[in-house]
Amino acid sequence: MRMSRAFIPTEKEAPKDAVLSSHIYLARAGFIAQVASGLYNLLPLGKRVLKKIERVINEEMEHAGAQEVELSFVTPAELWEESGRIHKFGKELLRFKDRKENLFVLGPTHEEMMVNLVRNRVSSYKQLPLNLYQIKTKFRDEARPRFGLMRAREFVMKDGYSFHASTEDLDREFDAMEAAYKRILERLGLDFRIVEADSGAIGGSGSKELMVLAESGEDTLAVCDRCEYGANIEAARRSARREIPEAPEADFNRFETPGIKSIADLSAFFHVDPYYTLKAVAKRALYEDGDEIVVFFLRGSDDLQEVKATNACGAMELVDVDEAELTAIGLVPGFIGPLDLASVRTVFDNDVKGAGHMICGANEPDAHYVGVDLSVLPEEAQYAELYEAKEGDGCPVCNGTLGYTKGIEVGHIFKLGTVYSEPLGAEFLNENGKAEPFVMGTYGMGVSRLIAAVIEQHHDDKGCVWTRATAPYLVNIMVSNIKDEAQMALGEALYASLRASGVETIFDDRKERFGFKMKDAELVGYPLTVIIGKELANGNVQLFDRTAGEKRDVAAEEVEKHIMEWLG
Ligand code: ATP
Ligand code: MG
Repeated sequence: MRMSRAFIPTEKEAPKDAVLSSHIYLARAGFIAQVASGLYNLLPLGKRVLKKIERVINEEMEHAGAQEVELSFVTPAELWEESGRIHKFGKELLRFKDRKENLFVLGPTHEEMMVNLVRNRVSSYKQLPLNLYQIKTKFRDEARPRFGLMRAREFVMKDGYSFHASTEDLDREFDAMEAAYKRILERLGLDFRIVEADSGAIGGSGSKELMVLAESGEDTLAVCDRCEYGANIEAARRSARREIPEAPEADFNRFETPGIKSIADLSAFFHVDPYYTLKAVAKRALYEDGDEIVVFFLRGSDDLQEVKATNACGAMELVDVDEAELTAIGLVPGFIGPLDLASVRTVFDNDVKGAGHMICGANEPDAHYVGVDLSVLPEEAQYAELYEAKEGDGCPVCNGTLGYTKGIEVGHIFKLGTVYSEPLGAEFLNENGKAEPFVMGTYGMGVSRLIAAVIEQHHDDKGCVWTRATAPYLVNIMVSNIKDEAQMALGEALYASLRASGVETIFDDRKERFGFKMKDAELVGYPLTVIIGKELANGNVQLFDRTAGEKRDVAAEEVEKHIMEWLG
């Protein structure tokens, strides 16, 4: 491409709302242009990057035996009624009616559509397994679209769905997809981690996220310093506590504790480790068809992990409650405990099951019980994993030490089982001629988000630093002074020759100052720039390696050889 003909509108100023480097540089370097909140146009450079990422995905999917399809973006709402998700998805789902008053949604994900495609067309175990995917626009009316392509409303996703006759076969495919996703991210040149993820209401261990490691990532990951274990904080586990603090020796008793409401104050008041205090966290749980207050109990040394808590009570969401709401149902904020508690739903962390020597609120103002043995709790009390794994906790796999790091979720693979095939009545006949629902897996990858993720991980204070697999062009030939005939002649010859060799090349033949062109080259982030300038009079040109940030002189005669060597 000749830059004099190209549409690459670079800008000095970043968009007003841009805080992430990827958002700032992709906009300033002319890859994307905002249309409205969460809506972006991809300009030629952005489209090239997208296509390069898509190509890598397509090659790896082909290799793994998955087949590409393209499903209609506009989806009949009936399918979402069938699965029941129309009520769960909330406002993110954009609904609209056509001229005949039929209700549709813009696909935010395509489980229903894919099941609908396969049901009645695949009827026997002999036609399984099947893995179908597409790379397609999705729409989610996100509450807070932000960070450019990172959290848009309209975005491109690779979404794949597999169909199996057994869970063993799903397990095999899940592992194959994990391996394929790993290869995709390796090929793109990204530093990433595959972590255990929250599986929502479906539960189980069959959910993993692919996280590109970056400080700006919205997700917190707990990762082991010794082994491969890593998990989204929403799902992170820990080994049993390494050292149990010495237990306070006290008989069961009631104590006046005026104004002592926080765990810190309580532990200071009684001189005990917070491990022996019982923390009560009250939340309002929102369900599809109503809501209620739930009190979660866990050790004072632990914090409540909200996603775990949400799953534990089967809620869609937990929201904060104020003291007045608690008092209204007979709870005493700051002094809530499990004994003599007003009638309210409770969930206990597994770690307090049968715990002794505990200090708990007495459900009366300014009073606590000490020496509480929680084995007195009723049989039917609900226990679940509620704690949030902390830095310094033991790894659940190898007992190494967990630390936090930040990640950008670029992929999510999930063992669905029969949660869609059952309600949608998608069945096949097994070897014995009996009808069974398909066992399914789903595999998502944020293709447009990946563009931003590459830049979050690969940029400096001058602009983008594309990896080779993602760069819009690999080589930029920059002629410093286009009026200099020798410079221009070499530029033209090199451009023609590299193009003939199939090297993705852009030719900066613009009538602009050298400094301006150089700033653009750094902002856009071409991996290699050939600078044809004054030194040509002495037979030399310069090669500028954007990743290494280094310039070196090479003989003009040998420049193509050096470029080919660099390309490898
Ligand atoms: P997040 O937790 O970031 O909201 P999600 O869990 O809703 O994502 P999935 O439903 O698992 O996302 O979608 C698969 C992939 O699509 C994600 O891993 C992510 O890379 C991408 N994705 C999801 N939402 C967006 C968005 N608003 N903008 C860009 N990419 C997105
Ligand atoms: Mg996800």
